[in-house]
Amino acid sequence: MSSRVLPQFEYLTPQSIPEAIGILKQYQGKVSILAGGTDLLIWNYIRKINPAALLSLSSLPELDRLEFNPGEGLRIGARSKISSLLASSMIAEKYPALHEAALTFATPQIRNMATVVGNIMRGSPAGDCSCAILALGGQVVLEGPEGRRSVDIDDFWVGYGETARRSDELAVELRIPAPGPGTRSAFHRLTRVHEDLAKINVAVRLEMDRGVCRQARIAMGCVGPTLLRLKQTETVLAGATLNEEILLQVAESARREIAPIDDQRSTAEYRRQVAGVILRRVIERAAEGRN
Ligand SMILES: Cc1cc2nc3c(=O)[nH]c(=O)nc-3n(C[C@H](O)[C@H](O)[C@H](O)COP(=O)(O)OP(=O)(O)OC[C@H]3O[C@@H](n4cnc5c(N)ncnc54)[C@H](O)[C@@H]3O)c2cc1C
Repeated sequence: MSSRVLPQFEYLTPQSIPEAIGILKQYQGKVSILAGGTDLLIWNYIRKINPAALLSLSSLPELDRLEFNPGEGLRIGARSKISSLLASSMIAEKYPALHEAALTFATPQIRNMATVVGNIMRGSPAGDCSCAILALGGQVVLEGPEGRRSVDIDDFWVGYGETARRSDELAVELRIPAPGPGTRSAFHRLTRVHEDLAKINVAVRLEMDRGVCRQARIAMGCVGPTLLRLKQTETVLAGATLNEEILLQVAESARREIAPIDDQRSTAEYRRQVAGVILRRVIERAAEGRN
């Protein structure tokens, strides 16, 4: 028999969110939630977790929502696929960074299976939609036996592959604030080949006002154990006119702020060199609205 056979597990298909929460409580951390399965069903990953059961979201269509309104902003339900982002002209228009992350994400087959929330919950420092969402800001809405709570995306990843979710909680949706009149965003990633995970990825959200950057959020991936917000570099941009001198300072600050390592996709030295270059390009593209 092949050594790559998946471990044995029960397969559970709750018909409602309360039923799902009841299962999570009953199994006390021994159940894994199955969305698209593009991370969870990878042999190495599931073998390490070795869950007693998989809780599938397949019978919970109420988690499909992808909705925007100017008051509440964007709501992305836990079953929304990466491909659904690309099918939405609203995402392309209002959240270019997220649109670009989805556009460069894997292959059409994976995009049709993988969910946006699954990308966040995996807690990978290379997650592309996660990187865009960290720059855009927002909350992860979790539901457990005590009800719902929202965790700010800035506080959600607590270590490599670790999140603030408790084992009896289901992530039901993501919320991302509505962009204001001067809000601009962009995303870019470098990979060895298109289908690969990022060597490095970068997303920014800028609040622009007549050529001046009032505020910035900068997210970078593959440069630390979790996705990072470059808060010192953000202060270089705040209140600045985006000229050559500022962009050089920004690039230099980013190189100082990150903590990349060597791994199978790239070296720490390469990542440090290119971090400033791609950050600068992403800022210029966002500021000009060239997406
Ligand atoms: C060939 C290939 C290419 C890939 N390319 C990319 C890429 O280019 N960019 C990228 O970022 N990623 C990539 N990935 C990784 C993967 O596709 C993404 O991380 C994807 O978004 C995961 O979503 P999913 O729905 O498949 O999650 P799943 O595999 O179902 O779940 C992932 C994790 O999240 C948990 N989870 C899922 N949903 C919930 C929920 N609602 N509540 C609580 N926990 C939950 C699961 O239990 C599991 O631990 C690739 C994977 C493969 C196999």
